Amino acid sequence: MHKHHNALGLATTHSTVVEIANTRPVQPVTLIRPHAAARAARFFVEKFPGRSLYAVKANPSPDLIKVLWDSGITHYDVASIAEVRLVARTLPDATLCFMHPVKAEEAIHEAYFKYGCRTFSLDSLEELDKILRATEHATDLTLCVRLRVSSEHSKLSLASKFGCAPHEAKELLFAARQAADALGICFHVGSQAMTPEAYANALERVRAAIVDAAVTVDVIDVGGGFPSTYPGMEPPPLEHYFETIHRAFESLPVSYSSELWAEPGRALCAEYSSLIVRVERRRGDELYINDGAYGALFDAAHIGWRFPVQLLREPDSRARDMEFSFYGPTCDDMDHMAGPFMLPADTQAGDYIEIGMLGAYGCAMRTAFNGFGSDETVIMDDEPMASLYVSDEREVASNVVTL
Ligand SMILES: *Cc1c(COP(=O)(O)O)cnc(C)c1O
Repeated sequence: MHKHHNALGLATTHSTVVEIANTRPVQPVTLIRPHAAARAARFFVEKFPGRSLYAVKANPSPDLIKVLWDSGITHYDVASIAEVRLVARTLPDATLCFMHPVKAEEAIHEAYFKYGCRTFSLDSLEELDKILRATEHATDLTLCVRLRVSSEHSKLSLASKFGCAPHEAKELLFAARQAADALGICFHVGSQAMTPEAYANALERVRAAIVDAAVTVDVIDVGGGFPSTYPGMEPPPLEHYFETIHRAFESLPVSYSSELWAEPGRALCAEYSSLIVRVERRRGDELYINDGAYGALFDAAHIGWRFPVQLLREPDSRARDMEFSFYGPTCDDMDHMAGPFMLPADTQAGDYIEIGMLGAYGCAMRTAFNGFGSDETVIMDDEPMASLYVSDEREVASNVVTL
């Protein structure tokens, strides 16, 4: 990995990235921006009215989780034993919370006895039994019961697979209360929630469940779902989400000392990475590029996600923008990203394009299928193509200088 600086250490995105394109890389190049992840982490640490756990699956890069740790994120939401080991190895002092509601018994055992994990989520009595067996009936557990809530305000549903239904919650909360040192309730409103109402509605479900079960609750965990910004998906400011959540939390029938948690994934790392790709062929309004559905563009291919793009050419093209779709490099039709992606009409084979906002999920889901993809990475100190956190300009400037 090498670190890229322009002469001043202060650059517009465009000129710095064009310099890299001018070296004509044959493979896709991942650009990473640690300062952008640090800024997002500090935003959550300072402004979320509770504790923020980083959802590791959004991007498990050890470099990234060190940046988050250095910026004040001390708790990590892990979903597999490999994620448990990864965080424990990278950040020995981090607190691990095993928030997958269906776990392997061996994974629970190892997480509890070897890595000190004390927080587990569950959405069934079977899972509660499993956790108790695997921890040899530990008495120091924080058990978070996952409720099923609506994903109607989100771009990616998490509503079908996990979470207990309203009629199951009472029995499960009651049983978990008997076994737990601390009892939590958690949910996930779906990823890229486009309005704070998603959380207000879910917290109404939480209120009904608490009243119905008449149990004392120690932790309210509002999960992930905090949005980033993409073309056609520009959410309201995150402060609005935090205010809505805070207000709803304050009015819940929970004990005075209860804690509020969140599990942001996307919002902490979307701005961390982008990708430089090369156009290998143009066919009408279709560009064949050297990364795709099996690379960092899974969401662009499979759920029609649109990412910001810019042509990296000097001097700038003067052609007007038009709509393009992309084909990735593998040999099947599924490697297609419909977009539309807006690029100058004279974009052609040999051109380089930066695709932005791939730090969440994009980079985490890459494969080497068909022999494509690369690990070429460059650390940047310029600004990401879009940001939810740039309103504080002075902070932006000081980040760039100190990195
Ligand atoms: C995926 C996931 C998250 C992170 O979701 P984002 O939408 O990326 O914020 C948090 N918690 C759980 C349990 C998840 O499965």
